[in-house]
Amino acid sequence: MSLTLKDDLNFTQDGKHISALRIPHSTNSSGWGSLLLPVIVVRNGTGPTVLFTGGNHGDEYEGPIALRKLANELKAEDIQGQVIIVPYLNFPAVLAGTRLSPVDGQNMNRSFPGNPDGSMTQKIADFVYRELVMRSDVVLDFHSGGNSMIFEPCTVLHKLEDTA
Ligand SMILES: [Zn+2]
Repeated sequence: MSLTLKDDLNFTQDGKHISALRIPHSTNSSGWGSLLLPVIVVRNGTGPTVLFTGGNHGDEYEGPIALRKLANELKAEDIQGQVIIVPYLNFPAVLAGTRLSPVDGQNMNRSFPGNPDGSMTQKIADFVYRELVMRSDVVLDFHSGGNSMIFEPCTVLHKLEDTA
């Protein structure tokens, strides 16, 4: 079953809209618990849609910190078009500070396009791919070295042959 947003997120109305992806997560301390993965949309009129994601790997702190700051500071009047921000893509991994999800051991970066009937990581990937990537003109996914590598600042582009 596909994951859904906590509230209907408005992709057509100008302004800043904040919601969360509700991820059912039963634990010993919360039998009907859920994780709430933040999704922020900032919109102003017509223009391109840009998706920013961080926390694909939970031990890479720079992206989530930068995108949290961007989500706090960005105002609709600062842009023309739409910005979607997901600071903590693999939220369980970010909470644990681990590269892979502690829930299912999955690597989010190898889980796209996801599976609505798969593990938690595959379900998150499915939602992000269907609902956010497919409505975006540009996707910027922030990575860093995490616990196991040191990265020089760099940009890696994947230009798709089939732009549709
Ligand atoms: Zn990474």
